[in-house]
Amino acid sequence: MFEAIHSPLHELKHPSLRVYVKRDDLIDPYISGNKWRKLKYILAKALHLKRTHLVTFGGAYSNHLIATAAAAARSGLQSSGFVRGEEVENDTLFLCKLYGMKLIFISREAYKDKYGLFKVFFGEDPSAYFIDEGGASAEAVRGCAEIIQELPGDVDHLFCAAGTGTTAAGLLKGIRQQHLNTQLHVVPVLKGGDFIAGEIYNYTKNIEQLNLHTDYHFGGYAKTSPELLQFMAGFTAREGMLIDPVYTAKMFYAIEDLSKQGYFNPGEKIVALHTGGLLGILGKKQQLSASISSPGTL
Ligand SMILES: *Cc1c(COP(=O)(O)O)cnc(C)c1O
Repeated sequence: MFEAIHSPLHELKHPSLRVYVKRDDLIDPYISGNKWRKLKYILAKALHLKRTHLVTFGGAYSNHLIATAAAAARSGLQSSGFVRGEEVENDTLFLCKLYGMKLIFISREAYKDKYGLFKVFFGEDPSAYFIDEGGASAEAVRGCAEIIQELPGDVDHLFCAAGTGTTAAGLLKGIRQQHLNTQLHVVPVLKGGDFIAGEIYNYTKNIEQLNLHTDYHFGGYAKTSPELLQFMAGFTAREGMLIDPVYTAKMFYAIEDLSKQGYFNPGEKIVALHTGGLLGILGKKQQLSASISSPGTL
């Protein structure tokens, strides 16, 4: 399932901005984008340790939960997911259940101690394998570093959205391993995203080529604004490429905004990593429909 892949690079149709998109969203609809990259070596390790039950954590719209559920089912493994907060139903969790994941809803307070929860619920189960929220781990960083091998060597600016910063750490690691001059640009989707620099440093021990753009969170994690949703709808219709409101829309908005400010030099090669996560669209259906201008009725 995690055989070698090479996702395509597509150039945007944008009239004035030359940007290539690394289409990791096309790897798989459910084990999507960076979640596939992250799970690749996590799963290899779990299988090596002969564990048959993946246990992980996420919010109610977590792309990592559904990716883990799908990856487990396809590998013939069991899966359980701790979901932060009170019991809810939505499309993401519904698909997790279809893939056979057992969901355990847990209060925000108790959720803070993830390893403690794992011990209490699965400490006696020798088949259980702990995977941190979002898959954050050295294995995940290794998987994400491989993205760099699939890019041309002359990229001036590489962009990605960040939640935990694990994907960004992998990209920076790959850039450094290959001695590239590429600048990595990270758009945190949470408020106060400066902490991401520390997270990345923990893995790479060098952040000279890191540029953080912390002003594109639109109010915080999973928060949006009419402006962002309008941008997203316009982008999708123009490019024929779906993006998600939680991560990739904020990244593409940042690229366009920086470009308008004259941030890039003419002729520079810009690549944006499409990290997938398109199910996030379903969580904002109502707000999005409201921002799509009605063509009117006949
Ligand atoms: C999970 C996710 C991210 C964040 O990745 P981190 O490694 O946690 O920074 C970015 N984009 C999408 C679409 C995601 O699902």
